[in-house]
Amino acid sequence: MSNKIKENSGIATLAIHAGQEPDPATGAIITPIYQTSTYVQEGVGQHKGFEYARTQNPTRLALERNLAALEAGKAAYCFSSGMSAIHTVLMLISSGDHCIVSDTTYGGTFRLFDKVLKNFGLEFSYVNTSSVEAVKDAIKPNTKMVFIETPTNPIMALTDIAAVAQICKESKLKLVVDNTFASPYLQQPIKLGADIVVHSTTKYLNGHSDSVGGVVVVDDLNVGERIAFLQNAAGAILSPFDSWLVLRGTKTLAARMQQHDKNGREVANFLVEHRKVEKVFYPGLSTHPHYELACRQMKGFGAMISFETGSYKKAVSFLETVKLCSLAESLGGVETLVCHPASMTHASIPAQERSRLGITEGLVRISVGIENVEDIIDDIDQALELL
Ligand SMILES: *Cc1c(COP(=O)(O)O)cnc(C)c1O
Repeated sequence: MSNKIKENSGIATLAIHAGQEPDPATGAIITPIYQTSTYVQEGVGQHKGFEYARTQNPTRLALERNLAALEAGKAAYCFSSGMSAIHTVLMLISSGDHCIVSDTTYGGTFRLFDKVLKNFGLEFSYVNTSSVEAVKDAIKPNTKMVFIETPTNPIMALTDIAAVAQICKESKLKLVVDNTFASPYLQQPIKLGADIVVHSTTKYLNGHSDSVGGVVVVDDLNVGERIAFLQNAAGAILSPFDSWLVLRGTKTLAARMQQHDKNGREVANFLVEHRKVEKVFYPGLSTHPHYELACRQMKGFGAMISFETGSYKKAVSFLETVKLCSLAESLGGVETLVCHPASMTHASIPAQERSRLGITEGLVRISVGIENVEDIIDDIDQALELL
């Protein structure tokens, strides 16, 4: 870590400085985009730690060190997408092994596990991980990993990371947390006992809707070595330019998350009061079933909100009437996005399973951006009034 930042620096300081030194050649304060495929060696076996750009790249390395610091981990590895990061973590277990997964996990994660990895002999149980008992009950002799997401998409259910970590320690299981929705600003799973944190950096970490990427952060350097091996072996690395974009993004993580959180609370409170809205899912509402846990586990409640309009027709009308808010998949960018989980982000989940999880046809999800909150609320209000 850079000698200008102290071990105990705050997260805003780490976000701006960790992993980055002035460029040794020029003093450039910003880590350059090292757009190179290889590195000239001074002699056979004599190099500066960089041999081939799939294996190591200085721009990616700066980002990896930055993200390791933000998640209070020992090391981080950046991938070409959140999905390739998650895929690589699952390569830590082998054919015949069993993994317990949050049943409201991201649709793409479910698709990877159920439609791809299952065919390679990995076994999955989809469990309501909000219940610590349910996690315990799902453990089998061949269980090796527990993969949780909290809060989950789109109904914002929380899992008690520390409690699940305790169970995992007792049974020697690896606990993986997909921390995409909260970001390390709101929640640091490794500090709560998780072994591995994954992110789609596409969302809050980059924050500007202009890059797709993923990261794996580890608390154990032996696990890190294996992830590095897999990263190099399969090769789904983050490009130098995308690494640079995400590094640019994390510099404002703290400032953005403070505003996202503030706007999220205001929009949630507005929706709760609106007569056209049947139900609001947001962990910052005292009526939310996991409100207490959210207060304990998170530093804020974030900006992901879902609400029930009552029907598919109403949801579509809302989504097609908003103007400032954009109808799009994805989340975590500075601009407010709205989507229809049942037909967009969660289309890969069978209809019957969707309805069991509360992903109804009338459900709308909002990723509240950092525009002036009055403007966001105005836009939502005019679209709701027309329902
Ligand atoms: C978007 C997302 C992913 C997948 O990441 P990509 O960068 O789109 O591959 C995984 N988990 C969660 C929670 C996500 O929101």
